[in-house]
Amino acid sequence: MAHIRFKALEEVIKRRPLELRLPECKLSEIFGENVFNSDALRQFLTEDAFHGVRDAVVHNKKISRRVADSIAAGMRDWAVSKGATHYTHWFQPLTGASAEKHDAFFEPMAGGKPIERFSGSMLVQQEPDASSFPSGGIRNTFEARGYTAWDPTSPAFVMGSTLCIPTVFISYTGEALDNKTPLLRALQAVDEAATAVVQYFDRSVKRVNMNLGWEQEYFLIDKALFDARPDLILTGRTLIGHAPAKGQQLGDHYFGSIPSRAMAFMNELEFECMRLGIPVKTRHNEVAPNQFELAPIFEEANLAVDHNTLIMDLMDKLARKHNFRVLFHEKPFASVNGSGKHNNWSLVTDTGVNLLAPGSNPKKNLRFLTFFINVIKAVCDHADLIRASIASAGNDHRLGADEAPPAIISVYIGSYLSAVLRELEDLPGGRLSPAVKTELKLNVVGKIPEILLDNTDRNRTSPFAFTGSKFEVRAVGAAANCAELITVLNTILADRLAAFKREVDTSVAGGKLKRDEAIFNILRNYILTSKDILFEGDGYSSDWEKLARKRRLNNFRTTPAALKAELSAGVIEMFKRNAVLSEVELRARNEIKLRKYSMTLQIEAQTLADMVRNHIIPTAISYQNRLIENVRALSAVYGDALKDSGAAQRVLIQKISNAIAVVSQKTGELVQAYTRAQGIADPQKQAEAYSDEVKPIFDEIREHIDSLEMNVDDELWPVTKYRELLFTK
Ligand code: ADP
Ligand code: MG
Repeated sequence: MAHIRFKALEEVIKRRPLELRLPECKLSEIFGENVFNSDALRQFLTEDAFHGVRDAVVHNKKISRRVADSIAAGMRDWAVSKGATHYTHWFQPLTGASAEKHDAFFEPMAGGKPIERFSGSMLVQQEPDASSFPSGGIRNTFEARGYTAWDPTSPAFVMGSTLCIPTVFISYTGEALDNKTPLLRALQAVDEAATAVVQYFDRSVKRVNMNLGWEQEYFLIDKALFDARPDLILTGRTLIGHAPAKGQQLGDHYFGSIPSRAMAFMNELEFECMRLGIPVKTRHNEVAPNQFELAPIFEEANLAVDHNTLIMDLMDKLARKHNFRVLFHEKPFASVNGSGKHNNWSLVTDTGVNLLAPGSNPKKNLRFLTFFINVIKAVCDHADLIRASIASAGNDHRLGADEAPPAIISVYIGSYLSAVLRELEDLPGGRLSPAVKTELKLNVVGKIPEILLDNTDRNRTSPFAFTGSKFEVRAVGAAANCAELITVLNTILADRLAAFKREVDTSVAGGKLKRDEAIFNILRNYILTSKDILFEGDGYSSDWEKLARKRRLNNFRTTPAALKAELSAGVIEMFKRNAVLSEVELRARNEIKLRKYSMTLQIEAQTLADMVRNHIIPTAISYQNRLIENVRALSAVYGDALKDSGAAQRVLIQKISNAIAVVSQKTGELVQAYTRAQGIADPQKQAEAYSDEVKPIFDEIREHIDSLEMNVDDELWPVTKYRELLFTK
């Protein structure tokens, strides 16, 4: 019987791209047609309801019960007009994916015709009976359930036949059980702190938002080939597999023409994104074979995070329809690049000013430098927390693997701004003499060009780079929810900016310095104390590791090591001070992440052990038997007549025997190691056991399996090979 690998390959040969779905109108005409956006609001809501939503979104005001009922009625009418029959509260629990539970609008009426009902209370709050989502011990399952509550700042949308309402997910006692709640709290904190600072320069500013533009990398693998790999099915990555002769070394995939089957998938994806109001803009091949990237135009951070979560879900569904599987794992294949998710972000005022873009005069540039230098200082003080926010079992494979930034957090700002900071540092501090003031105004701050792009975007090896008018965080994993990093960034920035404001005000109140002088002096001090975080060189080099060690920058290579930073006294205090996470919430989240890490490694270890016993060893033995038969037959026919008869086969038999012995023994050790780790109660110690004792055995086993793959007849090999996974189009 031909095994599943050959059946899969036969299927792939027959594949044709699905038909391109070309819209009959311009994409701009369908943009947002399935979103309850301001056009729909105007059309379907009463005057009162419309202003209720507006006030909630723009001014953070509460919505009254009566207005909520009216909004719900309008939203239902709009959704029904789009073909929706059900509604769901759509939320982002700490599993990392999105969750939904659908209810029908349909409601029978006693003695009358059934109706479509959707009330204000159904819109605003719901109990999803979500007792099996991770809560880190906050919400005892027998005690109380969590509930979801409407987030009016992210518009509702219709997917298929369901009205989806973005919500937060919290426990009855008010603790966050999701990714969105702390994100919204952190965005509010940064809004308050940044607005207070920006008022030094412009009193008309009333709000500051963060903008986020993510770039999502992913692999597309044929569905049949994927299904022939137990490791891909269960863990999202390949645990074994010999590198193909051709990988990415020719660089012929990067920005090459997009294969037609992938193109048909992207085409439909973009079409659906447009209807959902996700402004997708860029698509191209990535470095590795069958790897691609998708990027939208940036949006307000909360919406951008929702859109990223939504798009990952949509990509998974549409990929299956196109007979693909999409892989978001950070390292699905050894020997070719893994996938990341760059997070580009900036701060922008309600008057439309990007606070991370230099301006046309010295005053605007002092404002720019204020925010720019505060960011650097915040990253310097909380580099370990940033590293923790991007930590996951998947990302551990990618960081520092010569294809992604190292696990050391540093900031790249380009040679021009480096020189500006040096000049600022060299000016004398304290009260500024007229000569120094002129120098500062004309030759340092006044000189910064409005457009810095050409000076900045050269270093791709930095985890945290300034790219002209925004920062780009390149160390985020492709499978991550951006909310984790963005929550941390907003919290540390809010904390920093509030401290900065206190320092400036104290200095001015003392009467010693004028405000601009105070700002300059404090920024100069920040430059002096955060120099160590700045690095312009090659982040992939071993020299940087050495230099970073000298600078006492941490290089946490594993998730359990990185996550410790979340529980330091200073971090707990900071999250509390900014009302983003309480100590209980922080500890719960930390525990969930550690458990998730351990569970991931547990599943990988067990999958590998199963593959060894069910697939690899039986295959190796079959081939070995064939060789033994052959040697026996040779000697029966030729006896001593043929010199060295069967010698090569004997060498091969020996090799295979050795590999079987080592693989069996190491698999036994692996099972022992994970059984031991599984029994550890403390989440930190358990994660460390998986990282230090279980994970290293993977590589030893793999090495021998990959050499078996080279030595065993191709016809017998049971799981799809790298060249098949990566080069079928
Ligand atoms: P690349 O990183 O490939 O050079 P770009 O510089 O064009 O690409 O931008 C990448 C991402 O940065 C896009 O998602 C874009 O929307 C986002 N972006 C551009 N400007 C800003 C900004 N001011 N704030 C936040 N994101 C931005
Ligand atoms: Mg980028």
